[in-house]
Amino acid sequence: MSTDCLFCRIIAGEIPADVVAETEHSLAFRDISPQAPTHVLVIPRRHEPNAAALAAVAPEEMADAWALVARVAEIDGLEGYRTVANTGAAAQQTVFHMHLHVIGGRELTWPPG
Ligand code: 5GP
Ligand code: ZN
Repeated sequence: MSTDCLFCRIIAGEIPADVVAETEHSLAFRDISPQAPTHVLVIPRRHEPNAAALAAVAPEEMADAWALVARVAEIDGLEGYRTVANTGAAAQQTVFHMHLHVIGGRELTWPPG
């Protein structure tokens, strides 16, 4: 737990979130600024700065996060969806606690911006 980390504070219940589903290791909640009808963030309870860091120290927790992604897609009835993990400020990462964006519910274009 990092007290100056927004997502650690959401996990601790200090900041409210619209929770979609959760597991022992991961939490899924709706993004405050949705870019599509479904825009959910899946985060590990463990504080790691990005996806590669989590996979390196706790691969089973990364697998748990991906299982939760699939459950979110089921809950929202998504036919298809895009999962994004921004890494680094140059890639528009703004919260340095690993999170997977689950985006769907509308037609998605490729390549992304
Ligand atoms: P990043 O830019 O780091 O990949 O994604 C961070 C995401 O967190 C953004 O999409 C932003 O809208 C979302 N976000 C920032 N603050 C909050 C908050 O307080 N609550 C929720 N639910 N989402 C947030
Ligand atoms: Zn954190």
